[in-house]
Amino acid sequence: MADVHEDIESVILSEEDIEAIVKRMGGEISRDYDGKNPLIIAVLRGAFVFTADLMRAITVPCAVDFMAVSSYGDGIKSSGVVRIVKDLDTKIEGRHVIIAEDILDSGLTLSYLIDLLQARKPASVHVATFAVKDIKGKVPAIDPRYVGTHVPDAFIVGYGLDYAERYRNLPYVGVLKSEVYAG
Ligand code: 5GP
Ligand code: MG
Ligand code: MG
Repeated sequence: MADVHEDIESVILSEEDIEAIVKRMGGEISRDYDGKNPLIIAVLRGAFVFTADLMRAITVPCAVDFMAVSSYGDGIKSSGVVRIVKDLDTKIEGRHVIIAEDILDSGLTLSYLIDLLQARKPASVHVATFAVKDIKGKVPAIDPRYVGTHVPDAFIVGYGLDYAERYRNLPYVGVLKSEVYAG
């Protein structure tokens, strides 16, 4: 692998790992949505890298739109407040919707989003999340249909995931050194 960024403690998913995960998810979605022309909703900003790869791994017709919500701000802890920063441009009534998310932690962000989208009467709403964070004794508020992988309970960056808007461009996923956000 190419040089690892100095702020990364350890790489947990290499580019090759990521490629295999996304290919597999694209295959699952292609099988399930044959003839359904699903609308993939990328939850900005974190999911845009994953969504771009996922779309290219889907072999049936599909469309994409974007929604921006803010739940973490610049910090590393969930604020519990979800704010819609950008809404969809597409009408979803009667459409099959797949929400593409970067990482599922508490699931509160997605739970809020799903309720909001359900009110617009889509034909279906399912979630494809690249990663689920494994937290001992905690169950996420939602149950995603498509899960890429499970990651440990640490603050991770790369492949679209940021800390203070940095590191989204790393092509791998890694644990951020704690001294970067401490003090
Ligand atoms: P939830 O509402 O599921 O607790 O939070 C999900 C959102 O928090 C994710 O979409 C992501 O934006 C952010 N998040 C959760 N865990 C991490 C993490 O380990 N690293 C980064 N960069 N963002 C995270
Ligand atoms: Mg996100
Ligand atoms: Mg973030």
